Amino acid sequence: MNGLPDKLHDIYEEVARRNAGEAEFHQSVYEVLTSLGPVVQKHPEYVDSEVIRRLCEPERQIIFRVPWVDDRGTVQINRGFRVEFNSALGPFKGGLRFHPSVYLGIVKFLGFEQIFKNSLTGMPIGGGKGGADFDPKGRSDNEVMRFCQSLMTELYRHLGEYTDVPAGDIGVGQREIGYLFGQYKRITNRYESGVLTGKGMTWGGSQVRTEATGYGTVFFVNEILKAKNDTFEGKRVVVSGSGNVAIYAIEKIQELGGTVVACSDSSGFVVDEKGVDLDIIKEVKEVRRARIADYVDIRGGAAHFVEDRNVWSVPCEIALPCATQNEINGDEARALITNGCRVVAEGANMPCSPDAVKYFTEAGVTFAPGKAANAGGVATSALEMQQNASRDSWTFADTEMRLEQIMRRIHNRCLVTADEYGQPGNYVAGANIAGFIRVADAMLSLGLV
Ligand code: NDP
Repeated sequence: MNGLPDKLHDIYEEVARRNAGEAEFHQSVYEVLTSLGPVVQKHPEYVDSEVIRRLCEPERQIIFRVPWVDDRGTVQINRGFRVEFNSALGPFKGGLRFHPSVYLGIVKFLGFEQIFKNSLTGMPIGGGKGGADFDPKGRSDNEVMRFCQSLMTELYRHLGEYTDVPAGDIGVGQREIGYLFGQYKRITNRYESGVLTGKGMTWGGSQVRTEATGYGTVFFVNEILKAKNDTFEGKRVVVSGSGNVAIYAIEKIQELGGTVVACSDSSGFVVDEKGVDLDIIKEVKEVRRARIADYVDIRGGAAHFVEDRNVWSVPCEIALPCATQNEINGDEARALITNGCRVVAEGANMPCSPDAVKYFTEAGVTFAPGKAANAGGVATSALEMQQNASRDSWTFADTEMRLEQIMRRIHNRCLVTADEYGQPGNYVAGANIAGFIRVADAMLSLGLV
């Protein structure tokens, strides 16, 4: 690999060798290490103490069988994962993903990314991630419940409000968190609200948690625009996905005066030049759990569906990838640049490939990495834990105000840190370095752990 100082290069080589076949994990480690050159030059103690090498090795990795019975009476076997990556700053914290593509390399990339994201929030949360290769699509509520109960029957022993606190991610929303929490409570005989976040409002959830990642990403972009004396007003925006993050990103963009002209799911994308109708998207994706193509049937008019994954061919000024990892590669990045895109912010985790990020940087497109831009979700989870611990519950307006302040602080921390390390305006460097230093300093203080 080019571009890494010798010491970091050796660490990367070791990660690649010891975690063979885990391409996404390699990519996420490489992405962080490429920012740390100036840090280790200024602070050789991070290398001498092996804190970087230690950061790349999870504290604990759990892989387990998840047997369950489907509605036809057939036994199904899935594989469950929890990677407890780093607890220097607080209990392991990070979502669970249910998707057929889940394997150890994806969970490790997400867990690694989560360490720095959680650190950047300034809150007392470590990094972890988990999930299963279970596909909830087309499964009945009862099947999803039985699956969640079986998963928790193993996972519960590793969790706890001071130990490891999961939340949702792809394929895991409030329904799944409910089934997981119900089983945890049943097995442990404890109403331990702080053990999971993303809970329903009537049983320990926080206002704004559902909206937090999407809203937070848009608040972050709003800070970018403000720094350029600009606003969302009248901007054309493309958002990929139509799940939790995408829906609430669209909601906030519309509130701030932007026009979202396209969004997608894994079957294709819809284009609606008048601006997508969010009520219809919510009806199709949240209520019916159907395909995005149904949007066009309900909306009519000039809205149309394209059976292709490349929503990035639709011209826009701001692009928010909110679906999944590596959804924008070099070709898609070039198309966005050619069509006049000026700001890209990652609502999803690692949706832009290294090539894409390189093209954006070379073309002067402002690029906000996920570990900064989408940190609003986990930050609001930490607010949920705070409310659970104090048996309190805040209003929507109060919680949203806190979220906006947190996103502003993360934005400013990225810029100040990028300046301090000689890379003004570079959000990737700012996020990686600021996230790294807080967790690395905590690890040094805690001795050899
Ligand atoms: P959801 O399951 O709610 O939605 C995911 C969306 O992305 C769906 O529209 C889905 O389409 C689409 N999608 C998933 N996989 C693919 C794929 N391989 N190709 C094309 N489209 C795909 O998940 P979330 O909205 O919660 O998560 C989206 C992203 O945001 C993930 O990267 C997640 O890690 C990240 N994130 C989520 C947070 C949260 O609080 N939920 C916090 C921080 C980051 P379909 O319906 O067809 O599957």
